[in-house]
Order: sequence, then structure tokens, then C-alpha cells
Amino acid sequence: MSNVIPGGYQPFRSGPYNGLVCPTCNAETVPSAILCVKCGTPLSSPRSKGVAVVLAVILSSTTWLYTYRRDATKFWVGFALNLIGIMLTGIDIGFAFLLGVWIWANVDTAIKGEHWFQLYPNPVPRA
Ligand SMILES: [Zn+2]
Repeated sequence: MSNVIPGGYQPFRSGPYNGLVCPTCNAETVPSAILCVKCGTPLSSPRSKGVAVVLAVILSSTTWLYTYRRDATKFWVGFALNLIGIMLTGIDIGFAFLLGVWIWANVDTAIKGEHWFQLYPNPVPRA
């Protein structure tokens, strides 16, 4: 299995003092950086697809908090739909909202490829 990330992106490495360093030139950088300011290596803050799947299964739309920088809109739409669902649980249809958001969160997480998580928060380059 090849673990090459398209677009030349490199995950951060942990540096001294709990910092993060560029894997190419060892310059210190910050988690929000998408490029190394010293050498230009594209950087990512990889997420684990396994963690995202577990969060979706157990906590529904909360999985989008884990990938919030890409999924903020989905998180808040899911949050609103869940609130409506909770308010409507008195008349059974509320459960359909909660179930719908849960299915949406799980399908959305399942169809994202490994590269989506490896390159996070950067978009996967088109081949
Ligand atoms: Zn660098």
C-alpha cells in the first residue's frame, strides 16, 4: 500500500517544546499553516478517518466538529436539524430528523477518501 499523498502534501511532525515542524526543512510552524513559510512545502493537519467514523456512529453530526474547518456548514445545519428534531420528539416525527442527521453524518464520513483526511484541512487536488 502506497502512502503517498497527492500534491506533495506532508503531515506535520512534532517538534521540540510541543511545537510542530516542517517535515522537509524542520522549520517551526503552526497547526493552521497550509504551507511552510521557509521552504514552501504544502502542509496538512491529518485527521483519522477511523476516529471520524466512530464519532459519526456514536455522536452523529458531532463528527463534523472533528473536521470543522472543512465541515462547519454541515455541522451547523446538522445542529439545527437536531434541535428541531429534539423539539418535535413529542410528536414522533422528531426522531426522523435525528435519524436523518445521523444517516447523513455517517454517509458523509464514509464516502470521504483517505486522502481527504490526510490532506485536511486542504482540499484534495484534482488529478
Ligand atoms: Zn519547510
